[in-house]
Amino acid sequence: MTHIDAAKAALAHLDIEENPNAITAASRDFFWYSPVLKKRLDHLRADFVVRPRSEAEVIEVLKTCYAHDVPVTTRGAGTGNYGQAMPMRGGCVMHLRHMTAVKSCEPGRVVVEPGCLLKDLDAFCKEQAGHELRMVSSTWSTATIGGFIAGGSGGVGSVTWGSLRDLGNIIRLRVVTMEEEPRVLEFTGEELARVSHAYGTNGIITELELPLAPAYDWTGVFVKTKDFAAAMALAEDLANSDGILLKIASVYEAPTAKSYFQRVAPFVEDDDHLVGLMVAPQSMAGLVTLLARRPEVEMIYRSDDHDWPRSPGLVFEYGWNHTTLRALKVDPTITYLQVRYGYPNSKELVEQMRGSFPDGEVIQHLEAIRMEGKVAFAGLSMVKFTTEERLEEIIQIHEDAGALIFNPHRYTLEEGGRQHADNRQLDFKREADPKGLLNPGKMVTWDAPDWDYSRMYAYPEMMEADD
Ligand code: FAD
Repeated sequence: MTHIDAAKAALAHLDIEENPNAITAASRDFFWYSPVLKKRLDHLRADFVVRPRSEAEVIEVLKTCYAHDVPVTTRGAGTGNYGQAMPMRGGCVMHLRHMTAVKSCEPGRVVVEPGCLLKDLDAFCKEQAGHELRMVSSTWSTATIGGFIAGGSGGVGSVTWGSLRDLGNIIRLRVVTMEEEPRVLEFTGEELARVSHAYGTNGIITELELPLAPAYDWTGVFVKTKDFAAAMALAEDLANSDGILLKIASVYEAPTAKSYFQRVAPFVEDDDHLVGLMVAPQSMAGLVTLLARRPEVEMIYRSDDHDWPRSPGLVFEYGWNHTTLRALKVDPTITYLQVRYGYPNSKELVEQMRGSFPDGEVIQHLEAIRMEGKVAFAGLSMVKFTTEERLEEIIQIHEDAGALIFNPHRYTLEEGGRQHADNRQLDFKREADPKGLLNPGKMVTWDAPDWDYSRMYAYPEMMEADD
């Protein structure tokens, strides 16, 4: 009997997936946005999928897999990019879809299990307390709260609340370790950095306590302009307007709206840049006043009062990585970069990058975000992919100019982040996952402590393709 068969047999009384197609589906995330990762990770497949119903079952899965040396890759909904949820060595995918209970909810805070969908959690909190999550991924309708905290960075709401790593945006995480006798730990304060955004490489989150903000029926707005600088200035100025409450402020360089946003396209021309906003209803009067002062911009849509024959849907589902998704559906050669244009030179840096790629090889898409109290831009630039070498050159041009890249064409935490060890996460992995079985291959500093990042890390134990 192999190690895998032994672990599977020991877990047979749990909800185990046997269907090969379902196992393949549960072994994939959105890594394929990157042609670089598509080439390298497409063949990966777990040996089995188990769906625990409770923390006690999570402990049982981890204890059993530890005993049989079986790797465990945890899955929320598998909407992550960067190959975060891809099982590099096969083994077990532990899918948390059954763990959806909201344990308590009051104005200002919620306690929830990790498998709850962001959309369901928001609906519950709104109903129960008139509140909602401060920030969500634009995959709100499909992603889980556990996956967002373990794999995400921020998103819809970050224009007001900053990013997940900012103090105060996570209150408490309950975490199970992968040891002979798994421990259950409660993390607050400084300790939160051990496991948040650690891709499930050093512990499994079984409960989260998060802060909430007042919920609104946000009004979706689209504004067009022929002047890109005016689009950026509008997003930045609105994010800086103390009396106007925003959920999102996105800037889309032409021809994004015309070429990729099917339901917006009839209302714009090729050379129109677009700003997408979600504004609290009581802030609409302030927005309209601000727009009236700027003849160079024109509001073309507001969700509370419009005559578009087909609703464009939720405005945030045009933003963050949904922009790339919409573009990819039209032009499969499109991929993307995650860029940080910091304060105070963010707009100048974006203009410099626009000047560096005048022929449309890189199309700007920006999200206004708050960084240490200042408004800056996260760029999710769309890139027309030709070769890996050219993609590297494009990254280098950004870095040389001082724009920070979080490279979505890498599958390790460090390479997709700031390219150095996070000792808090590494130290906790030593303690909580001594056999290195949790989401293997995703932490370079665990596998190759002296890695110098001069080239892409290739995990030597990655399972091989069949052919
Ligand atoms: P998964 O993809 O299942 O998991 C993500 C990572 O977390 C994996 O490494 C997994 O092993 C780990 N993990 C999952 N659950 C646990 C747990 N309980 N304990 C420990 N580790 C765990 N991201 C953003 O931050 N902001 C955005 O606005 C955004 N927009 C996106 C738009 C599109 C169209 C796409 C495809 C992706 C986007 N993402 C964004 C990435 C991703 O959707 C989010 O980070 C999402 O919240 C991940 O949730 P998930 O449930 O799908 O997690």
